[in-house]
Amino acid sequence: MLPVLYPWQANLWQQLCQQLQANRLPHALLVSGVKGLAKNSFAQHIVASVLCLNRRDDQSSCGHCHSCQLLNAGSHPDHIEIRPEETGKQIKIDQIRNLRDKQQLTPSVSKWKTIIISPADNMNVSSSNSLLKLLEEPQHNTVLILVTGCPEKLPITVKSRCQNYHLASPTSDQAFEWLTNSAVNKVDSETLAKLLQLAKGAPLAVIDMLNGNMAEQYLQVEADFKLILQNSANPIALTATWLKYDLVTVLNQLQYMIRERMIKSFVNSPEITVDQAKISLYWQISDCIVQVIKLVSSQNNINNTLLIEDFIVSVMRIANSNATNQ
Ligand SMILES: [Zn+2]
Repeated sequence: MLPVLYPWQANLWQQLCQQLQANRLPHALLVSGVKGLAKNSFAQHIVASVLCLNRRDDQSSCGHCHSCQLLNAGSHPDHIEIRPEETGKQIKIDQIRNLRDKQQLTPSVSKWKTIIISPADNMNVSSSNSLLKLLEEPQHNTVLILVTGCPEKLPITVKSRCQNYHLASPTSDQAFEWLTNSAVNKVDSETLAKLLQLAKGAPLAVIDMLNGNMAEQYLQVEADFKLILQNSANPIALTATWLKYDLVTVLNQLQYMIRERMIKSFVNSPEITVDQAKISLYWQISDCIVQVIKLVSSQNNINNTLLIEDFIVSVMRIANSNATNQ
């Protein structure tokens, strides 16, 4: 089956089509963007088109030729996909070395050879160095596609040798339209808007959230956060609930909610009467959240129970000190 081309990928796809038509495909592409924009599917779409022996007028793959059939069966000799051998593990240097050996071969079915490395940021220094050598000696008629949600983790030397294909999130109107057309009717539009914010505007991430009952989680965390700010939460019980969720998602939601409160404080007040104490309170809480996100995201062995309990107590203390100061 042909990989789907999503509406938010249309601009980049046009760019690729022009390069294909002009026979000026770059040797290496860096497909980046936040989670939930179907970056891998987009890379597959490019590969299918580049390898196809009978491209359509719009430059997409025909879906029927020998190349398309082989690709569909996962046995195209001119295409290689490099992924970590185990989920969450790094791409090994041997995987990149093998790639260098295979790269010397000429294409056997198609006119091109294609390689996808995903997630490209999942490489240690030696794998990256090996990849760099590959990029420094580009082979004729080979397209290397690096896919990543964290381009900042890639060495500049690698990035500078790739053409940047950054997938941007659609506007919220476009995302709403797509989500509505995709029969998303499990939640009201207000909750959908909140989830879309949390998903950084990526519609497929919203679908994942809805499938994982994230709407319920969102509303729960929203209610919990209100209790914390009112200084009436039970840190131990609350921590136990939050530990059942993905902590980074919970913390990102808190950050988003604090930002919303800050914006409202400014919008609702004429400049002179902006509640400085409240703004300062929100900044302090925001700092706390950022610190905890850093700790939770680090590879260090951290006791999440203690961390979150401590975080909740700290935020309650900040909120309470502000209330008593008023
Ligand atoms: Zn084809």
